[in-house]
Amino acid sequence: MKILFVSAEVYPYAKVGGLADVAGSLPKALAKFGHDIRVVMPKYKKIEDKARDLTVIDDTLEINMGSIGILEAKINKSIMNQNVPIYFIENNQYFYRDQIYRTKEGDYPDNPYRFTFFSRAILKMLEKLEWLPDIIHCNDYHTALVPVLLKTEFKDNPLYKKITTIFTIHNLGYQGIFSKVVLDEVGLDKSLYSIDKMEYWGKINFMKGGIIFSEKINTVSPTYSREILTPEYGNGLDGVLRTREKDLFGIINGIDYEQWNPETDPFIKKNYSKNSLKRKLKCKKDLMIDQALKTSHLGIKVPLIGIISRLADQKGLDLVEKALEKIINSGANLIILGTGDAHYHEVFQKMSYRFKENFRVNLKFDSELAHKIYAGCDMFLMPSKFEPCGLGQLISFKYGTIPIVRRTGGLADTVIDCDEHIETGTGFVFKEQSINNMLSAIERAILAYRDKKRWNRIVRKVMEQDFSWNNSAKEYAKLYSEAIISR
Ligand code: ADP
Repeated sequence: MKILFVSAEVYPYAKVGGLADVAGSLPKALAKFGHDIRVVMPKYKKIEDKARDLTVIDDTLEINMGSIGILEAKINKSIMNQNVPIYFIENNQYFYRDQIYRTKEGDYPDNPYRFTFFSRAILKMLEKLEWLPDIIHCNDYHTALVPVLLKTEFKDNPLYKKITTIFTIHNLGYQGIFSKVVLDEVGLDKSLYSIDKMEYWGKINFMKGGIIFSEKINTVSPTYSREILTPEYGNGLDGVLRTREKDLFGIINGIDYEQWNPETDPFIKKNYSKNSLKRKLKCKKDLMIDQALKTSHLGIKVPLIGIISRLADQKGLDLVEKALEKIINSGANLIILGTGDAHYHEVFQKMSYRFKENFRVNLKFDSELAHKIYAGCDMFLMPSKFEPCGLGQLISFKYGTIPIVRRTGGLADTVIDCDEHIETGTGFVFKEQSINNMLSAIERAILAYRDKKRWNRIVRKVMEQDFSWNNSAKEYAKLYSEAIISR
């Protein structure tokens, strides 16, 4: 199959969250199965540092919104993979910026123009490639206009006649809702402003367009794919999603074990496996020293909990904020790595002064420190309000770091409670989004941790699990085939 994978972020070129991880690893897994898959993303400012050797494929294309440059990372030098070509769409007005979506002040106000341009440019690029995909795999609202454009503006162009689309919802919390004047300003078909297309409470909604106009839709876990059909999790689109229920699927994300593997990880103090857990303890000590947590007087024996997250309400950090003192009193240390809402920056910073010996917060995006935290912590906390898939718990498994999670979305699909299922348990799970529920899961984890034999048994077991892309990539290939057949 010939697949074009389109995404606003792709690891390691540009990353904000899990979307980048998926875009950087699923295509590689599909290529290994013999599919001809290529990736396209915008050329942000920081791309220059990551991909120095770019070849210009074309710099003559013009559309109503500006000129398009198409560049390609030299295949044998591409960090991505030798078998996966990656193209960059260049337009300095829209993409030559430090950030991908937003600055501290908020979203870039011209995001609707930037991502309309990106979607159009992707389709125009195909005029120049001498390669046509059977399917375009679109991801989140930034590329949701690709299926819309194919069925409106580009519908009579024979070049695109045979191309079908799938649309993956990585997070329904970000839909791309904009003023209706945008439609006119970017030159989209006026008929799209209607209730059965992109109209949304007097505005336009890019994600709604993606859901309605693509051949198949999926989200990144089976549970989340069911949750979003309900008003509680549907973010106002549950009704639209229900109209497409028979085309909606859930495929759990995988992890790239070339990037996440304690046996080979270059960023951690000691490489280790399930048979050398003493070396994991060295990683813990190194992390605690790095974070200036107290390691003397048995400090190293205190369970260490990690959080690596966007600091957004979705992630349930209000619970952490309110329960922090109790978490520490229950006998654990806590490290947070994250950036996001100003509110959380402020409160966690303040608390780190107050609880100096037991709590550290790192308000930045830092991939290297993330590796050290996954390896050095004993437990990993994800009290999310909703979680489409969640990668943190899957990475933690690989590093023998036991997740404590709320039972929602992908967390419900991947973490089994250790006390409910003594033999098969892989973490500590709580259901209701409340401080007490979260605290009791943490306390259960701490209790288990004090029983070294039991703890090490759990640690070894979680490290044996396979959350690589192998299975999920096969499911995507099947979904692509179904989309092509049903077109
Ligand atoms: P989401 O996509 O909602 O942000 P996921 O759990 O799916 O959440 O993916 C988050 C990814 O981003 C993980 O790979 C996590 O390790 C990484 N990450 C999040 N915040 C940071 C940060 N501040 N520094 C480094 N990595 C981070």
